[in-house]
Amino acid sequence: MSARNAAYWRDRAASLAIGGQAYIDGAYCDAADGATLPATSPIDGRKLADVAACGPADVDRAVQSARRAFEAGVWSGLAPRQRKERLLRLAALIEANQEELALLETLDMGKPIRDALAFDLPETARCYAWYAEAIDKIYDEIAPTGPDALATITREALGVVAAVVPWNYPLMMAAWKVAPALAAGNSVILKPAEQASLSAIRLAALASEAGIPPGVFNVVPGLGAVAGQALGRHPDVDCIAFTGSTATGKRFMEYSGQSNLKRVWLECGGKSPHIVFDDCPDLDRAAQAAALAIFSNQGEVCIAGSRLYVQDGIYDAFMEKVAAFAAGLQPGDPLDPATAMGAMVDERQMRGVLDRIAAGKAEGASLRMGGGQALAATGGYYIEPTIFDCAGQDSSLVREEIFGPVLAAQRFSSEDDAIRLANDSVYGLGAGLWTANLSRAHRLSRRLRAGLVWVNCYADGDISVPFGGVKQSGFGRDKSLHALDKYSDLKTTWISLAV
Ligand code: NAD
Repeated sequence: MSARNAAYWRDRAASLAIGGQAYIDGAYCDAADGATLPATSPIDGRKLADVAACGPADVDRAVQSARRAFEAGVWSGLAPRQRKERLLRLAALIEANQEELALLETLDMGKPIRDALAFDLPETARCYAWYAEAIDKIYDEIAPTGPDALATITREALGVVAAVVPWNYPLMMAAWKVAPALAAGNSVILKPAEQASLSAIRLAALASEAGIPPGVFNVVPGLGAVAGQALGRHPDVDCIAFTGSTATGKRFMEYSGQSNLKRVWLECGGKSPHIVFDDCPDLDRAAQAAALAIFSNQGEVCIAGSRLYVQDGIYDAFMEKVAAFAAGLQPGDPLDPATAMGAMVDERQMRGVLDRIAAGKAEGASLRMGGGQALAATGGYYIEPTIFDCAGQDSSLVREEIFGPVLAAQRFSSEDDAIRLANDSVYGLGAGLWTANLSRAHRLSRRLRAGLVWVNCYADGDISVPFGGVKQSGFGRDKSLHALDKYSDLKTTWISLAV
């Protein structure tokens, strides 16, 4: 892979055949009314493809197809070992096509090709393989009843699961839901984000090649307010597995309440605190982690460490280190493997982030570095790594999720102060903590209101551990064996042995 340079990727991009159709009932198709949305590359503003803009009629067709397949048992009725074999094949196909899929991600949403190849694609393939390997090793239960009864507790697939996902890690966010839902025996409808649907559309062909039967995996691209809402309100969808903003998550709860009470699992926004104590064991490493926590993937990361809290005594020296490292992360051509920071997903996102930066300045936060658009001549949407020193918690830079490369740093004095500031948010997704004091690490890990706590690292993880938040960051967990619980029901069967 090391021989792949920017010229290689540009050539490949120029000759790439890009599909934009929906995938319903085992076949690619246009939206019933022929509507399309343009897929535009944030790298240079170039149009990549016309993507089917699915509406309620397409969603309904996908749901009916998914339901038929589920009832027919072509997937739900297979032995777990058989589902495993096909999901392993899908993982292998993702690996075999990783260059094309990585290129689609980069072209469609602007992340550096280097990250797509080193992170998104391996994580995606591993996720399908992991749930494939898990599913034929899980046993059901027999309850400890008395001698006159046998009570079994068995897991059953739900039926039709709709996965509605964002654009920041398109394949990976989808995999976290699609893999366990399929492994558990459900039929799945994937609704990719309108900003980045291309890799999901390509995935459908790979799923078919892997032997996943028609109707079991469908892809309905389209606008959130149209295709997403139609799934949320559909009376025959059993479950919505959602990742995206908190505002949209709340809508899915309403859709459910107003339709069939489908279960809704939410992975929503974040404003994660990153806390550095003056006994931090490695300040250089922590500074690098603090910069990468907010500037990786252009800051378009739900667990971005967007609030940095540094203890008084080391604040100035530490922030200099963070800024020095961040200075090396300037945006560049995402197709150049040397680029560490790419383009914002679209012009709207870029403008929104620039507006937040302007608001932060107007509120009196002090701009330490960045703050501007970059590479405007490319026609793409780039923002400099931006760091603010904030005087207090009231700044919108501290309170609101920006979903861009904007870091809000503040000082704190004591453990209690750090916890008060860190927990002062409507969100509770991730939290990072740097200290050499083991007791403090344990103490604070317990007190932090977050679904994920990292000690002396940031954003580390593995498919084997749960991922998700508390408060308005949502509920339910992706990844790990616990994710399977979201996609199955427990059935109690009580058999009297007295007759
Ligand atoms: P979004 O909420 O705008 O969109 C997410 C998905 O919901 C998309 O598929 C979109 O089409 C759909 N959608 C949008 N409006 C809808 C509506 N009215 N009805 C039904 N569906 C609708 O979010 P986004 O801008 O794509 O993604 C960024 C957000 O996602 C951030 O808040 C980020 O923190 C969050 N996120 C969370 C996690 C996590 O694991 N917690 C991971 C990645 C991103």
